[in-house]
Amino acid sequence: MPFFAVAVALGVVQVACGGGGAFPVQTVGGAAAGAGVRSAQAATISATPGALGADEAVVAAPVTTPATTPATTPATTVPPPPAPPPPLFVPTDPAQWFNPHGLHDGTEGIANDLATLGVTDNSPLYVNECWGRTWGAATSDHHASQLHSWACDLSIKGIQTPTPQADEAARRIGSALGVQGWKGGNLVKVINGYRIQVLWRVADHFNHVHVGVRKL
Ligand SMILES: [Zn+2]
Repeated sequence: MPFFAVAVALGVVQVACGGGGAFPVQTVGGAAAGAGVRSAQAATISATPGALGADEAVVAAPVTTPATTPATTPATTVPPPPAPPPPLFVPTDPAQWFNPHGLHDGTEGIANDLATLGVTDNSPLYVNECWGRTWGAATSDHHASQLHSWACDLSIKGIQTPTPQADEAARRIGSALGVQGWKGGNLVKVINGYRIQVLWRVADHFNHVHVGVRKL
């Protein structure tokens, strides 16, 4: 009888304890309560690293890693700027570049090489027309009937008067033909059996530089 009465009494006490939580019971709630406290601490500690223990440091690590990654972004170590392009080589003699190739006995390549020299790094000057013209004088190096010639015109779209870019192109092309400081006119050179003609700042050639090549 006394034992039963004690057991019942204990049962009542435990029920009251579990329901109300009024006093610190260590038997039933011990393990669960401890885990709850630990997880709560971990969550709190992650925000306050100064209180970290050995175990919590592992949890906090992934939090600090992204913090160090952006720290490298404001670092002022930037790669050196790309090397500037090599300066444009402007030949001063035909022997430095003359190389017939392409269509019409190689006149295409000669005219294109000189045209490229004129427009390189010289925007907005561009090669606006070459061989194949079906209008105008049939004797022109541009004309479609000329199968041993090639010609290219360098101009700036919409501009009908001399420009610094066209002057620069004429200077380069004149130099390549061995004439330094050429400022315009009707320049004719015969090189290795090819007649090369450059027209600039003469009649009908104030808005474009003409480069014509013919195999003689
Ligand atoms: Zn032309």
